[in-house]
Amino acid sequence: MYDNFFRFIKEIHYIIYTRLSKEEQGKSREDQSRSIKNQITVCQNYMEEEKRTYPNCIFKEVAILKDDGVSGTTFNREDFHKLVTLIEQKQANMVITKDLSRLGRDHIQTDDYLEKWFPEHNVRYVSVMENIDTYVDSISNEIAPIINWSNENFARQTSKKIKKTFKEYRKDGKWTGGEIPLGYRKDPHDKYHFMIDEQGKEIVERIFHLALNHNSLDKIVKILTEENVPLPSAIKKNKRKLNINMWSTKTVKSILQNEMYLGHMVQGKTTRLNHKSKKIIYLEKANWDIVKNTHEAIIDQETFQNVQLLLKANKNKTIHSYDYLLKGLIKCKECKHSISIQSYPKRKACYTVCNYYRKYGSKKEVCTAHRFNYLELEKLVLTQIKEDCFKYLDKDKLMEILTNYQEHLPIIYDIKRNIEKSKQEIRKLDNQIKEIYNDKLEGIITKEQYQNITKSKYETLEYEKKKISRYQNQLKETEKNNQKQNEKKIIQEVLSLNNKLLILNLIDVIYLGQNGHIHIYYKIQKPYQ
Ligand SMILES: [Zn+2]
Repeated sequence: MYDNFFRFIKEIHYIIYTRLSKEEQGKSREDQSRSIKNQITVCQNYMEEEKRTYPNCIFKEVAILKDDGVSGTTFNREDFHKLVTLIEQKQANMVITKDLSRLGRDHIQTDDYLEKWFPEHNVRYVSVMENIDTYVDSISNEIAPIINWSNENFARQTSKKIKKTFKEYRKDGKWTGGEIPLGYRKDPHDKYHFMIDEQGKEIVERIFHLALNHNSLDKIVKILTEENVPLPSAIKKNKRKLNINMWSTKTVKSILQNEMYLGHMVQGKTTRLNHKSKKIIYLEKANWDIVKNTHEAIIDQETFQNVQLLLKANKNKTIHSYDYLLKGLIKCKECKHSISIQSYPKRKACYTVCNYYRKYGSKKEVCTAHRFNYLELEKLVLTQIKEDCFKYLDKDKLMEILTNYQEHLPIIYDIKRNIEKSKQEIRKLDNQIKEIYNDKLEGIITKEQYQNITKSKYETLEYEKKKISRYQNQLKETEKNNQKQNEKKIIQEVLSLNNKLLILNLIDVIYLGQNGHIHIYYKIQKPYQ
């Protein structure tokens, strides 16, 4: 939206202007500098974003101006004069402040700068907080005079400012408070940082493990309750929450979906409408503050992703929570709603049904039943998947792996033991030969006797050496074979397709038409390649 502006101006020379009034000054010097520092950080972050958005434009920071301990009701401030001078000397064409009240609290004079003086001097003015940019046609610009006028409304501004500071902390991946997830505790040396809490960590790992092994949320709750696993509130000694004394699917689910366990700091999921409102608004994920790798992870990426797949697939759970292989993956081709699987235990049958039809079909004329025998459908789908996969598999290589597999080779441990035996035998023979040689030197036996005895010893020695080399070949073969055995296991798993995780990783969606036709959409272009 700045494109018009940047077509004419290729270089931005900007001034960051900050101000701290006497009444806003904290008790310590440290607080003051922090506040000025924070204003600078907010402005600099904004400019960094601008630089990224407009890489062809040249940005230059002309000055960072600070009026410390001067009220906003007067424009008679030392550094503000510097700002005016720099602009009059055409050394700057942009001014940025954290909020409008930094520029001034006297609304008539501030309006003057905003609407007359800056435009007359071709200066772009940006206030980060109120989203004011004098070069952009935005609603904020039109309400700028109103914000200006109401700057006496401190409460609102203050609340916004606190929010902004928290936002800055969160952008740095610093913990700004709230409930710490189970498995972590605050670092005693750094209040913005997490450390592992061993007891909690074990429970989190257990919950992920249970989920990965296809246990439903209800089942996990049941297991945790039966095993008397302490609740997060008990571990964290959170007195406010002690009235909750049962594991719930909600608690378990929130643990399974918490990306903090990957080692990322995830904050800013909620906000309030304004400073007066108590109502909490849940934000879209795109607006969360996520900073990666801020603390030690408890769960690895692959496990986390697989658990999310399983959670998603089990979302539309029916009472009969038998985990059908294709549950959660089938959609109606006609109306795009999901297809449920209804089971009738008495008749030992289960059928598909379009959810949209099930809900409204009898009242309105929407969609059709899409009623098919589920198990037949599953067979059909699996056959189709296998066919699709074989298109991309190297069949020859596959067959080679399957046929060259020898069932009865000695196990590695036995071969190694045989090698060791032969080596011992060789050492023994070596020593015997040495002794016989000594006997010969001392004249105990004659040269002929020596040759006769050692001849057979040397023969045995050679025999043992050959044995070792044969064992070593055997060892290589067996190791290769074991590797093939693993490959075979994987191939068999793929061929039988009875692993739900495999299906979930493979298939995006299956569309079921009212004529019974199926269309499978894969997550990957070429399966198994
Ligand atoms: Zn439908």
